[in-house]
Amino acid sequence: MNRITRTLFALIFVALLIAVPRAQLPAATTGQSSEDRIALYQALLDLQNPWTVMCVAAHPDDEDGTSLIVMRRKYGAHTVSLFSTFGEGGQNAIGPELYEELGAIRARETMAAAEIQGSEPHFLGLKDFGYSKSADETFQKWGHEEALRRMVLQIRKLRPDVIITNHSINNNDHGHHQATARLVLEAFDAAADPKRFPEQLKDGVTTWQVQRLFVRVRGNQAVQNPDRQGGGEQIVTIDPNERDPVRGLVYAEEALRALQKHATQGPWPKTFAEFAARFRAFSGQNAAPGQLPLVRYLLVREAKDAQALSTDSHNFLDGLRLLDDLAKQLQPPTIDGKPLTDFVTAPDRVLDFLNEARGHGLFNTITNEYAPRSFLMRMRLESALATASGVKAVLMPRNGDAVVPGEDYRLVLMISNEGTRKVEVRSAHFRQSVNREMTVQMPMLIEPGKSARVPISGDLLDLIAPRESNLLTSTALPKPHADLYVMVNESPIIVIPISSQVRSLPALELKSIEPERFVLTPATVDRPVVFRVRLANHLSKQFEGHFSAFLPNIPCGMNQCPNLILATTIVKLGPGETREFELKVRLQASYEPSTFGPQLTGGAFGTIKAPYMLYFAPGEFDNYGVPRPNWVRVSVVDAHVAASLRVGYLRGFDDSLLTGLLSLGVSAKELTIADVRAGDLAKFNAIIVDNRVYESQPELIAANQKLLDYANAGGTLIVFYHKSDEWNPDPRRNRPQLAPYLLVLGNERITDENAPVTFIEPQHPLLNYPNKIGPEDFVGWIQERGLYYPKDWDPQFHALLQSNDPGEAPLKGGLLVGDYGRGHYIYSSMVWYRQLRAGVPGAYRMLANMISYGHGK
Ligand SMILES: [Zn+2]
Repeated sequence: MNRITRTLFALIFVALLIAVPRAQLPAATTGQSSEDRIALYQALLDLQNPWTVMCVAAHPDDEDGTSLIVMRRKYGAHTVSLFSTFGEGGQNAIGPELYEELGAIRARETMAAAEIQGSEPHFLGLKDFGYSKSADETFQKWGHEEALRRMVLQIRKLRPDVIITNHSINNNDHGHHQATARLVLEAFDAAADPKRFPEQLKDGVTTWQVQRLFVRVRGNQAVQNPDRQGGGEQIVTIDPNERDPVRGLVYAEEALRALQKHATQGPWPKTFAEFAARFRAFSGQNAAPGQLPLVRYLLVREAKDAQALSTDSHNFLDGLRLLDDLAKQLQPPTIDGKPLTDFVTAPDRVLDFLNEARGHGLFNTITNEYAPRSFLMRMRLESALATASGVKAVLMPRNGDAVVPGEDYRLVLMISNEGTRKVEVRSAHFRQSVNREMTVQMPMLIEPGKSARVPISGDLLDLIAPRESNLLTSTALPKPHADLYVMVNESPIIVIPISSQVRSLPALELKSIEPERFVLTPATVDRPVVFRVRLANHLSKQFEGHFSAFLPNIPCGMNQCPNLILATTIVKLGPGETREFELKVRLQASYEPSTFGPQLTGGAFGTIKAPYMLYFAPGEFDNYGVPRPNWVRVSVVDAHVAASLRVGYLRGFDDSLLTGLLSLGVSAKELTIADVRAGDLAKFNAIIVDNRVYESQPELIAANQKLLDYANAGGTLIVFYHKSDEWNPDPRRNRPQLAPYLLVLGNERITDENAPVTFIEPQHPLLNYPNKIGPEDFVGWIQERGLYYPKDWDPQFHALLQSNDPGEAPLKGGLLVGDYGRGHYIYSSMVWYRQLRAGVPGAYRMLANMISYGHGK
């Protein structure tokens, strides 16, 4: 750490003391930074609490960050969070990534949030298949036994004494939430039952009895309480408004900072006041102005012999006691009868004390049954020793922040001694598993206030920098294990964790392919398609080679043909450079309708029944260094459009609409708000307002009359789905009725992607020209039918389709069309963008009809 940062920390520390005059800690007398003092305080507090609290949540951002923070920061409990899914089926508020890529991003967001919460995240890796209305539907996809098996295994490994969850089996919310609530109840018993999943009971995994299960209470709702004996509701309240005396923040402020790390799920409240308002809405309770309501949990299940929870408790662990022997062994250490946290500004004294206590076997027990809990406390003791020593070790690449396997890389270990004593470094240990470890001897002395840079080379990379693509395949997140062994003033060995800032990257990284899916139609089958690939060179030298698009081993005649290269470009990238390259692919094909559906016929590759895969790779077709899917699915859809169409569109949050229009072979132009204001719109046959544009570009609201004028004068104006609170008239947001006639959105959705669709007006031209839309156009949909269905509309609109989720009332507003002046207005709340992205033929055929509506017939 350089002098400037040191001074900065000192200034912050002074400011905190002024802002929080009642902070319980004495001022530092050494050069200890406030960051170091906070870290030491936490490490010493951790030695006072041998209990583990687990928060179970369905998706990242469903965890109760406030309670996790209070349990760790205030009480020193070991805290873990367990997520059923990676949340890959959710929306993405900040980028185009969906599905697996979104899951990897959300896993990283969760780790960043957990860092602030002081908790340890774990995942069951169950599939997030999108919004679900019931636990039953969720279990159909997850497999009930498989989901339970995974949760039981994590409970047996992580050994929580208490589980808390936001999810109740009585809430009618997301089916994943309901299913997770049921799983927790069942796993509570199953984890302790040796007859359940006995195959797990090996390699140190044993049955585990959780002592208490708490479910969050919302509003005044009653929570099912099947197993409480002794009557009476037992509630634990956590006060989010309490101030963390060490960090100077209210616990809920820390929780908000953690929540904001789930950026893809935003927008989140930016201020504490906004957070308080949202919290009140969620909990259904009131609180003083500027304050958050209390977090209330109901005890819903406890172990048979669990100790009683006192009434009016503020701590989930209240009253839990260890058996006598173990309690003695894990008793919190003290200096002169005072807790160690009183000595947080005297790290040397703490260090000497802990060294001696460790020598006398602090937290050491040979009672096998309780070994894991002692092991946890010994790890916490080691961590406190490391923190008190003031020694820090960081592994970093010599250049940049990433290294490339196979390249002649070199790493640097930065060791700094921020304590007041001489440090003797012995060795560094890197390990991935029992079989894969490496020790580097590095004897040296580091004086107080000094640091050392140690070059490290060798076969270390796989040990310390797992590939990012591993994130989704492993339920336990990969974590490098590297330690530095040091002695301070000839103490016994102290183990300093080495933090790694090394990422492993392929030499040539394929960052994206656009479009990521391609559909050909009769109008575009013989046109070249331009694919844009973004490539990054992570080598420290120039990368030079070919990059190709090819069809792999497609059948031709009776034999397998070799890979067929369709386009190649020469790639030259300087060290560290990222650039976009274009590949113009011509399939040299013709379109042939046949009884088996549309086909591509081309001299070079025979006949292919769509879909097939178009691959992208560097020369020689190996997948050298391409970590993400490097193919684009190409299919042929029998979708026709009226002649010579020109379409303008206001872009939503992805490129699915543009890709769809290009597939149909029409002229497509993106419109800005300024274009709309200028009003020169008559040249377009149709204009599309894509999903949620009135929200993402609110200036469009003021310019909306120009769009209505355009329709009135003969154009076809098409609007895709918006949320009800982004669309319905709202004087506070200066938002009038946006459609030419009354059109009010509700919050109903149809989440079953196979929900039957019936045709209310099968003869309506919008369903018949140029493509005759039939039931087969609603086959093969993904995720859902639509969102925020209109609930009220003017009789000028014709409702053409009707559908509903099983057991629910029919919704008729999914596709509305009406005449307006000499033109037309179409509103559709169906999720066309998902179907276009997935290449669903019906979506292309319906898009073709919408843009052709009123033209050419
Ligand atoms: Zn959720």
